[in-house]
Amino acid sequence: MNVADSFRVAAALENLGYKPTSVPKEADVIVLNTCVVRASAEQKAVGRLTSLKSLKTKNPDLVLSLMGCMVGIRDYEDLRKRYPYVDVFAQPSDPGPLINFLQGKPEVHSAYREVADILDADFAYTLPATRSGSIVSAFLPIIYGCSHACSYCVIPLRRGREISRKAEDVLKDARALAESGVKEITLLGQIVDRYGQDIPGNPTLAELLRQIHDIDGLLRIRFLTSHPNWMSDDILDAVAELPRVMPHIELPNQAGDDTILRNMRRGYTSEQYLATIAKIRDRLDEVSIATDIIVGFPGETEEQFERTVEVLETVKPDMTHVARYSPRPDTYSARKMADDVPEEEKMRRFRVIEKMQEDFSTKINARYLGRDVPVLFEEKNRGRWRGRTPTNKLVFAESGQDLAGPIEDVHITWTGPWSMIGEITE
Ligand code: SAM
Repeated sequence: MNVADSFRVAAALENLGYKPTSVPKEADVIVLNTCVVRASAEQKAVGRLTSLKSLKTKNPDLVLSLMGCMVGIRDYEDLRKRYPYVDVFAQPSDPGPLINFLQGKPEVHSAYREVADILDADFAYTLPATRSGSIVSAFLPIIYGCSHACSYCVIPLRRGREISRKAEDVLKDARALAESGVKEITLLGQIVDRYGQDIPGNPTLAELLRQIHDIDGLLRIRFLTSHPNWMSDDILDAVAELPRVMPHIELPNQAGDDTILRNMRRGYTSEQYLATIAKIRDRLDEVSIATDIIVGFPGETEEQFERTVEVLETVKPDMTHVARYSPRPDTYSARKMADDVPEEEKMRRFRVIEKMQEDFSTKINARYLGRDVPVLFEEKNRGRWRGRTPTNKLVFAESGQDLAGPIEDVHITWTGPWSMIGEITE
């Protein structure tokens, strides 16, 4: 989401005549786009912000903008006091305050710009022109914010309530991305499978996938992140029927124990989660499934953690994004529940899951050995091309040719837990 938001700002800056530089001290404008989903991300942002202070002191003409979830959608007066050298504060997704500042217009408090229509009328989610033709795979947000309110999650507080973007705005951006050379679009939403529930006519993700599927030039479409309660048969039918929609579902579980799930306010039981996984596997051939897990949620006992281990043993996901619980300001869990699992124990549980996933991925990937798979290559990295299979597996291949763009058939010659190596077939 932040990658897409950053490109959105970069494109808006280009419209004013700015050009990118990779050297911070050469910049006239620096935008720090921030994430605060865990304390570690926020600390990183604070560190960067502090180090930018000396640049601003040396060059008072430098325009410094702090953007994203560290600012949030409400009051940022405390940030203004803490970081008086920051010129512009902007809520997530919104280039408006910075663009106004650079044009000498009054700074609009970003909280007033909460409504999607205003943002979408002024700014597009396309690539900056300087990146056109060089980006194979791009992100396209289709929902702003989130209304689910998981007890541990700060996102709804910082990105605001769920607002689906109008299908026509999404399609316009998707066409522009395809025209600028993008081959793969990943549609984004905190709960992407809820797309359209909050806007007139209730368009669905399935309908949107069908419309985007018809855009010339696009080879692949993905979407994330889904919530188990909203994974409808319609969406699965669209994935099954549309060849350009990739068979990869990101379906966070977060925990395996029902009491923990209830305290997390996830809205499903373990049994329901497993039933949704079974439904997905039943409908989609060779689908890959990724999940998110939080270890060390307040009160999580060893026994309750074992439930998570059991559920993962049953699901055997293709990927698990595992996080150690991090209390976030103003969330329900931070206000009402003691962060009582010691850090070392959170780390131990983290490692247990990491190891399990390594074993699952080793076995799942080994099935690809000797097979030819279609790979969309994105870029060359240290002499090797890096791309992905339809199931989102990372593949490396050597080639003197420019592989970015068309889908290549690759003969897999080596597999490991986190990637594979292959040869381009003639
Ligand atoms: N909205 C999606 C969902 O249904 O869960 C996923 C997006 S969420 C912003 C990304 C991930 O960050 C979550 O799935 C969760 O695992 C993790 N996360 C969120 N809040 C966290 C916290 N307070 N501590 C640790 N991890 C957290």
